[in-house]
Amino acid sequence: MPYAYDDQNIFAKILRGEIPNDTVTETEHTLAFRDIEPQAPVHVLVIPKGPYVCHDHFAAEASEAEIVDFMRVTARICASEGVSPSEGGQGFRVIGNAGEDAVQEVPHYHLHILGGRPLGRMLQKG
Ligand code: AMP
Repeated sequence: MPYAYDDQNIFAKILRGEIPNDTVTETEHTLAFRDIEPQAPVHVLVIPKGPYVCHDHFAAEASEAEIVDFMRVTARICASEGVSPSEGGQGFRVIGNAGEDAVQEVPHYHLHILGGRPLGRMLQKG
């Protein structure tokens, strides 16, 4: 089934400037801003500016320029937020939720960058 993008989702509204955001960085293809309900000292959301619902949609339909930019912006933020192990940081986790089982709340593709404290194991049992 093809992905149907809902342009009334909250990140689409952020991209149109209809609601504010705490921007970390912005490029031609990508916007990164702080999560409104941070779950760690570092909690940044990275979103493509294009209308993609989730990871596989983005991977299948975005241009190479969009994908490269998105990945590089994500990595640069890990460094600038001081959590990248390659820059002396203590580490980070990148999470991309898709669909119901993953409890994706906002249907515009985004990665969460989390860090700044020990994050525990990836998943709880059950
Ligand atoms: P997900 O469950 O992966 O779709 O995560 C959506 C995330 O968006 C949650 O962590 C929310 O706290 C965050 N969020 C929702 N509205 C906003 C907003 N206006 N600005 C920043 N983050 C938001």
